[in-house]
Amino acid sequence: MSASLCGAGGAATVASYRCRVVEHRWVNRRYKYLRLEADAPLAAITRPGQFYQLRCPVTDEAQPFLLRPMSVYGAGPEDGRLEFLYNVAGVGTRALAGLPAGGSMDIVGPLGNTFALDPAFRRILVVARGVGLATMAPLVRQAAGAGVAITALMSARSRADLMEREFLRGAAAQVHGVFDEDGSSAVAAVEGLLRRLLAGQRPDAVYTCGSHRLLMLLQRVLADYPQVRGEVAMEQRMACGMGVCLSCVRLFERGGDKQFLRVCREGPVFPIRDVTQEVEFG
Ligand SMILES: Cc1cc2nc3c(=O)[nH]c(=O)nc-3n(C[C@H](O)[C@H](O)[C@H](O)COP(=O)(O)OP(=O)(O)OC[C@H]3O[C@@H](n4cnc5c(N)ncnc54)[C@H](O)[C@@H]3O)c2cc1C
Repeated sequence: MSASLCGAGGAATVASYRCRVVEHRWVNRRYKYLRLEADAPLAAITRPGQFYQLRCPVTDEAQPFLLRPMSVYGAGPEDGRLEFLYNVAGVGTRALAGLPAGGSMDIVGPLGNTFALDPAFRRILVVARGVGLATMAPLVRQAAGAGVAITALMSARSRADLMEREFLRGAAAQVHGVFDEDGSSAVAAVEGLLRRLLAGQRPDAVYTCGSHRLLMLLQRVLADYPQVRGEVAMEQRMACGMGVCLSCVRLFERGGDKQFLRVCREGPVFPIRDVTQEVEFG
């Protein structure tokens, strides 16, 4: 199956591809790393922030009907690899976790838009929690490759859950870890740290993904830094992932106008300032 979709960001080819499962292993007690290879040159057309819909296998426990959206964690045009890093959360991802290396799986994509990174930026600040780090890891690599300095504010339940190595993948960054276990991830503490970083380092842009609480905090703090660009990759429950079913629509505010937009199609990356307080559908 193959279809060509033309969106605001230009033409993109979306198709269903059968991939080889080259590597599939646990990273820690909750996250798995999945490496696929396709015959088509997918890695070359996949951009940071984009995602694929993964078909999870049928098991004795489950028959996942809907495909599961997963951000691209890495793409290697030189060897055709597509990488994913996912939290084993529910029925679909539990079924996915049992897929052996050497098997095959179907994916649909690449889907969605991409982060806007200007290579002329001097420094960026990335704020990540949970699965957000899988989504932003390619952005970090892109920034490092362009010589843009990186500050990472990483939030996690505990030090053991931080996954700093998996996030940076060798990129140099100034890392600030904040944790639930010692209270340093509390909103007031993170706000203080954010304000110090924004005032002291004057990043050109802030990017986030993975926590609604951090998103709302950033939106509030960035109101005091109008010169700093802000983008968020939204994680929203979705079905088709291609803009047809409208299940991932949510309300945004653009230039004073309220607009319903599809997270899968107009997003998943949006300006932080456009996101409304509405929490989630469904
Ligand atoms: C654009 C995008 C990128 C994502 N990237 C990643 C990633 O890189 N790594 C990662 O671990 N997770 C990612 N997620 C979340 C991931 O899609 C869900 O964790 C996964 O679909 C859960 O499926 P499940 O069957 O295990 O859970 P269940 O709770 O059993 O799922 C039931 C249904 O709800 C949907 N659903 C449940 N949780 C979510 C969620 N948080 N977001 C969207 N749909 C959900 C499922 O797709 C499924 O249709 C992403 C979500 C989106 C929208």
